[in-house]
Amino acid sequence: MACGSDSMDAGCDVATAVKDLAELIRYGKKMAERGLVSAHAGNISKRIGNSILISTHGSMLDELEGKIVQVSIEGPSPLDHIASSELPMHRAIYRQTEAMAVFHGHGRFSIIESLNTEATHIVPEDSESAHYLPLIPIIDGKFGTEELGHAAAMALKEHRGALIRGHGGVTRGNSVEEAYAMLAVIEQACHIRYHLALAQMLSHRCNEPRRP
Ligand SMILES: [Zn+2]
Repeated sequence: MACGSDSMDAGCDVATAVKDLAELIRYGKKMAERGLVSAHAGNISKRIGNSILISTHGSMLDELEGKIVQVSIEGPSPLDHIASSELPMHRAIYRQTEAMAVFHGHGRFSIIESLNTEATHIVPEDSESAHYLPLIPIIDGKFGTEELGHAAAMALKEHRGALIRGHGGVTRGNSVEEAYAMLAVIEQACHIRYHLALAQMLSHRCNEPRRP
């Protein structure tokens, strides 16, 4: 669609809004297909000027049609009460970083790895993950709180993704695609770390001298 006149600009705005919604719906499906969320878990958002499009509270990410609302970044907004319960975290990240999209999921190995250490970060073992995320911070905080939002924003100022201990991962991106990709990278890194540690333990046991 060509843009320029007032009526055409209005048409462009509508077309862009439809495109933005369709993009989030498409990537919500990818989140579920890849096992980065289950049932009603996880939430995703995209920056639109001074506001964000965000999945609603209790929505399933593979069924986001009609389940995305627009709220201001500064807040409060009329639709806050039906937005994701992690709205404070999304807002904090948009306020304190240049993020154009924020994704939060509950990858199984992300949860395991975050619980398997008391450290404040993990380092990916595989080169692909390490290329994108040389270090993945682990933050603490109760879900849906301003405290968690603050911790996530601090971590995502320097890193494109972080683990939330016992909970999952949160990422930012210059696009919806990048935020999704970083969440997949975190899960991949944790998947490999878990299985590598297991393989090393089994190998060590097999190489132990047999007792007489
Ligand atoms: Zn969560």
